[in-house]
Amino acid sequence: MAAAAAAAAAADSDGDSGGCGSSRDSGSDGCGARMRARTRAVAMAVLSYSGGCSCNGGGSCVVILVSAPVAVASIVAVAVARAIAEAVILAVAVMMVEVVAVAAEVPVAVAVTEAVAVAVAVAVAVAAAAEAAVVALILLVIAFDLTIWIVLQSFSDIPDSEKACKDIAYQLVKENPRIQVILGGGRRNFLPQNSTEPNRSEARRTDGLNLVEEWKQEKMSHGFTHSYVYDKEGFDRVNPANTDYLLGLFSHSHMQYEAERDNTKEPSIGEMTAKAIQILSKNPNGFYLLVEGGRIDHANHANQAHKTFADVEAMNQAVHNAQRLTPDRDTLIVVTADHSHVLALAGYASRGHNILGLSTVDGQLNTVSPSDGKPYTTVIFGNGPGWSSDPRPNLTEVDTTAVNYLQDAAIPMRSETHSAEDVAIYATGPQSFLYTGTHEQSYIPLAMAYASCIGPYAEGKLACAKYEVLPHNNDPTPCTDPNPAELTRSTPAIVFMLSIAAIIFVLITKH
Ligand SMILES: [Zn+2]
Repeated sequence: MAAAAAAAAAADSDGDSGGCGSSRDSGSDGCGARMRARTRAVAMAVLSYSGGCSCNGGGSCVVILVSAPVAVASIVAVAVARAIAEAVILAVAVMMVEVVAVAAEVPVAVAVTEAVAVAVAVAVAVAAAAEAAVVALILLVIAFDLTIWIVLQSFSDIPDSEKACKDIAYQLVKENPRIQVILGGGRRNFLPQNSTEPNRSEARRTDGLNLVEEWKQEKMSHGFTHSYVYDKEGFDRVNPANTDYLLGLFSHSHMQYEAERDNTKEPSIGEMTAKAIQILSKNPNGFYLLVEGGRIDHANHANQAHKTFADVEAMNQAVHNAQRLTPDRDTLIVVTADHSHVLALAGYASRGHNILGLSTVDGQLNTVSPSDGKPYTTVIFGNGPGWSSDPRPNLTEVDTTAVNYLQDAAIPMRSETHSAEDVAIYATGPQSFLYTGTHEQSYIPLAMAYASCIGPYAEGKLACAKYEVLPHNNDPTPCTDPNPAELTRSTPAIVFMLSIAAIIFVLITKH
């Protein structure tokens, strides 16, 4: 979702966001603290779901922890006391009846005494069993409480800065109000339960906030022209020329896969990219845009190559639109991925071969190389839900190009995994040469900041691109001191990023 990605980028670059784990606060312990914070959130969810206690700060959990052992001890004590008392009464009763029977010399009375004794003994046994069951149940509750208590204890060292972890929708609207364009899915995370907005049954905020209304109010209070849209018709009506702020939430959850997208309900990622650039490029100081094709990742997890490639193609259109709508001389575009997947292209397919089809050699179905004599798909996965049976099915008559076909996977898994190889990074525009070679991922945003003279490279801090001689500008006198003011005017930048897995692109322009 573009909105989520934009929020993440904004939060990361803004040390004052106060959200989850700014690098400044967390230090070397940041990752561990964030992990524990997430664990705490899970534990809270378990508690909330179980109804055991509403664990706001753990106070009510302590009540249960104290009360449960006391309750169990009481039950055990009562059960023991009852058993002893009943045994004593039984013994006394038997003795008395026997004494009376012997004294009266009535043999029948002895038989009756024995029957009564047996009946009482059975009753006592049943009562004891029932009590044991109750005690066992209580012990189970205690075990659950103790587990939660142990988990809660592990949270005790969470720094205060990590405790108030805010969701991305909240950060987007409340903590980064100057993000001008937010487009994507996830509407349910912006609306309170029982909201009257579209798809209200999906709305899931429990804090009562209606972030769409909050967003509108904030823009109105500043006199900004703004639009909130939730379908394609509304999106098409937005005129970039007179819109400063745009919030578009087109789905309660994720946007649709491109292969299944209803063109009358949701805009494509290419259309959203174009609209965003048309709005942002009105700013004379330039802009930064991040676009993420997040559903490529989801289709890979499902082993659905058709959907994967359809979303890659949609992302390609977004990159194309960005190039078309921005000047290359002042726009840095970076295209890369945050990770790859265990997707492989297998065999020796001929030119023009359908990549979703079965593997061929010289145009003929390849059933020779596989030891079982059955053809295989050109796209295969290392793991995932596409794993079939053993022996594997014969795919000769199967339409492997279908939208919902699952390509074969070597290891059966509910969801395919990411993988660890390096991903490509492509760049065009000013300072794009900074992206040659192999880099750690953290280098990517730093190079963008350097190219744009923002963040750590803002005026008066560190040197940035505008003070450097650009190697790609064919300057015959590379040691001359460039005029910073002139370079400042000539270095708006756009940054883009792309991948096989999740394609992200970012645009920056900066005067
Ligand atoms: Zn993933």
